[in-house]
Amino acid sequence: MSLTKTTCPYCGVGCGVLAGSDGTIKGDPDHPANFGRLCSKGAALGETIDLEGRLLHPKIGRRQAGWDEALDLVAAKFSMAIAEHGPDSVAFYASGQLLTEDYYVANKLMKGFIGSANIDTNSRLCMASSVAGHKRAFGTDTVPGIYADLEEADLIVLVGSNLAWCHPVLYQRIASAKEARPDMRVVNIDPRRTATSDLADLHVQIAPDGDVALFNGLLTHLDDHGSFDQTYTDNHVNGLAETVAAARASNLSDTGLSAQDRTTFFNLWANTPKVVTIYSQGVNQSACGTDKVNAILNCHLATGRIGKPGMGPFSATGQPNAMGGREVGGLANMLANHLELNNADHRQAVQVFWESPTICSKAGLKAVDLFQACASGQIKALWIMSTNPAVSLPDADGVATAIANVPFVVTSDIIEATDTTMLSHVCLPATGWGEKDGTVTNSERRISRQRAFLPAPGQARPDWAIISDVATRMGFGAAFAYKTPADVFAEYVALDAATTQFPRDLDLSIFADADYANLIPTQWPSNDHRFFADGRFFHPDGKARMIPVAAPAVSTQHFTLNTGRNRDQWHTMTRTGKSARLGPHLAEPYVEIHPQDAAALQVGAGDLVTLENTYGRAILRALVTPRVAQGQLFAPMHWTRQRSSSGLINSLTAPVTDPISGQPALKSGAVSAKLYKPKWYGFLASAEVLRPQTPYAAIARTQTGWQAELAASQTPDDWEQETLRLAGQSTGDVSVQTDPATGAVRVAIQADGIIIALLFASSHPVVLSRSAAISCIGTDTPTLDALAGRTRANLPDPGATVCACFNVGRNTLLAAASNGARSVAALGDVTCAGTNCGSCKPELATLLTEASLPMAAE
Ligand code: SF4
Repeated sequence: MSLTKTTCPYCGVGCGVLAGSDGTIKGDPDHPANFGRLCSKGAALGETIDLEGRLLHPKIGRRQAGWDEALDLVAAKFSMAIAEHGPDSVAFYASGQLLTEDYYVANKLMKGFIGSANIDTNSRLCMASSVAGHKRAFGTDTVPGIYADLEEADLIVLVGSNLAWCHPVLYQRIASAKEARPDMRVVNIDPRRTATSDLADLHVQIAPDGDVALFNGLLTHLDDHGSFDQTYTDNHVNGLAETVAAARASNLSDTGLSAQDRTTFFNLWANTPKVVTIYSQGVNQSACGTDKVNAILNCHLATGRIGKPGMGPFSATGQPNAMGGREVGGLANMLANHLELNNADHRQAVQVFWESPTICSKAGLKAVDLFQACASGQIKALWIMSTNPAVSLPDADGVATAIANVPFVVTSDIIEATDTTMLSHVCLPATGWGEKDGTVTNSERRISRQRAFLPAPGQARPDWAIISDVATRMGFGAAFAYKTPADVFAEYVALDAATTQFPRDLDLSIFADADYANLIPTQWPSNDHRFFADGRFFHPDGKARMIPVAAPAVSTQHFTLNTGRNRDQWHTMTRTGKSARLGPHLAEPYVEIHPQDAAALQVGAGDLVTLENTYGRAILRALVTPRVAQGQLFAPMHWTRQRSSSGLINSLTAPVTDPISGQPALKSGAVSAKLYKPKWYGFLASAEVLRPQTPYAAIARTQTGWQAELAASQTPDDWEQETLRLAGQSTGDVSVQTDPATGAVRVAIQADGIIIALLFASSHPVVLSRSAAISCIGTDTPTLDALAGRTRANLPDPGATVCACFNVGRNTLLAAASNGARSVAALGDVTCAGTNCGSCKPELATLLTEASLPMAAE
């Protein structure tokens, strides 16, 4: 089978993938982002390309419609809203999942032809603070460095970045570099100890939002110890004196760190010229995110440690095409091609190039504001493209209500039933990864092709074509007559060439004669180019700006809720949730809570916890661990209303944003916590798809169907009927077993002698080999064995999945460790764990440590 060279659709690392229509997935050894590596998510891509749950036809309301009817309606409704209420009465909400060509066309339609800048994107949730910080410091939104710097650095400082789980291949590149050069140092600055901390020589357990104070302290230290590059700052940097003065006003106790930890970090940074500071959502998703970015950039500018091999600040972007979206202006405060929306000359140049009837004249609504405008009635027509804001935005329940308030809502998506598509009036089927063609840009400015290796299913069409067809129906056909994505890309490159009179970083001339079909991964402005070592910046005077920043007031709230990602899931699980291999790693929405906080709340391991605030409520499984500090909680952001009844964490996050970037503060919410005491807990394994139907329910895919962790406040009168209901069965041969001593109930449903569902219920959290129960589904295992939680072969319980590639569980690994496999490599030799994608290696190391088993040197 011939394999197609394409790019992973998940994170901003932008790994090259070799993919086949039979589901074969391999890392592309020729791609400079990953050189053949893939993480667990990328390696499981082949399990996500089936058509289950796909939207295959346009829908108007709940009925299937033809493309012409649906597109006519969309164009008419948008045109009508614009005619009656003006251009700012309509909005697009796009996604870092869109390809650059899709983004370009959407941005062109909204800004140049509708005449509003009301196009924003879920990238606002990801890196808007980095964009704003870059622009303040450099004059442009420029990532100065490249991935090779991460390997060439002598010191890597990770700030608010769980790279091991969120950018796993970059983590692996650093881990390999550190293995090859043991003198390389890694510092991890994070309020939470994460899988990434395990690689670090120093974990700096900073207070939430203590970053500005810490980097102001570092700047002061660098000044006090003569570490500034005087020649560089004299010639190329403005604002040094004011910035140092502001830094000196910061109170270092706001960092929450001991003097010893601070000094160790400061000395390491000051004494290591080749330092790269990597930052991501822990910096960006904050009410002071832009200031945090500039506090970091200030230190690099003051020392001239920027744009040289192994030196510089590095923003790791969360989404596969967040960078491409930025390039084509897919944010409400950008124009296109890194041109300025608030610059009349730039606007005119773009309008002339587009030959458009109008051009937006002011910034549009940023994501959180956009949905508040939906709630207030300002937005009359809304088009949501490839994203799920009813789950992913803060105050998600308020956002769902706001969407429902819009008179006309269009969604274009690959999935039929998401929390957001369910709220739309028209659903348009888009092609997904593996079916669509275009380009994406990764965190190091490298443009790679996503290529189709599967036919478009049903009537699905590429986003750029759908948007162009709507534009044509709105009367703008001449400007949207693209035949292929290559046409769009060529126009994007031509716009760059037509606006070279405006000096800026974006330079696409390397793509001027590109062979689009055979385009190899290429960086702009040129391969391996680093910015700013020469001191040439993009402010009008050619200099950089150091920005004085003040640390925010120390929070006294209890509890502070931090949110983030799991290793094996992506965003709202519409794709990764399909993989039975990925689901079991962390199969439930959980909350990490410190042991002393848990004890104070009388919460034990496996109990359920209710989190609550004025925005909403969630019930989550307690994961009692000292990896979070006292007073802090951590919960993942992946669970939707489709996959859980009470695990949607953005029900609790507040729509508080950074005043400059508009990025929401998703990591420092205030919540209360208390023990949730249901009448019964349950575990259900089923052949059929399950729906959340109890006050606590968490649904996950398994190798034999589906599973649900359950809990409810009322005990059912009839367990037989309750099990049938929960399993979505109307009939079946039902066997019920009750233990009078404990009240535990076990129920099996069979059809033609085959087990199709098993329920285990108890007044305590259910202790059971989940994998044994799951493996009984679809088999003729004797009922008594199945109800006893035994497989026919009575195989040992492997425990919770640690290695997704080889499905190796915790119990298997512990057994191997106690039999002498006392290193990550030895565990790999015995169990294969960690020997494919390597994403679980940090957890293997942690498991050896937590199990109090002495680790052998590797
Ligand atoms: Fe995909 Fe993993 Fe690479 Fe990110 S690190 S692009 S998720 S394979």
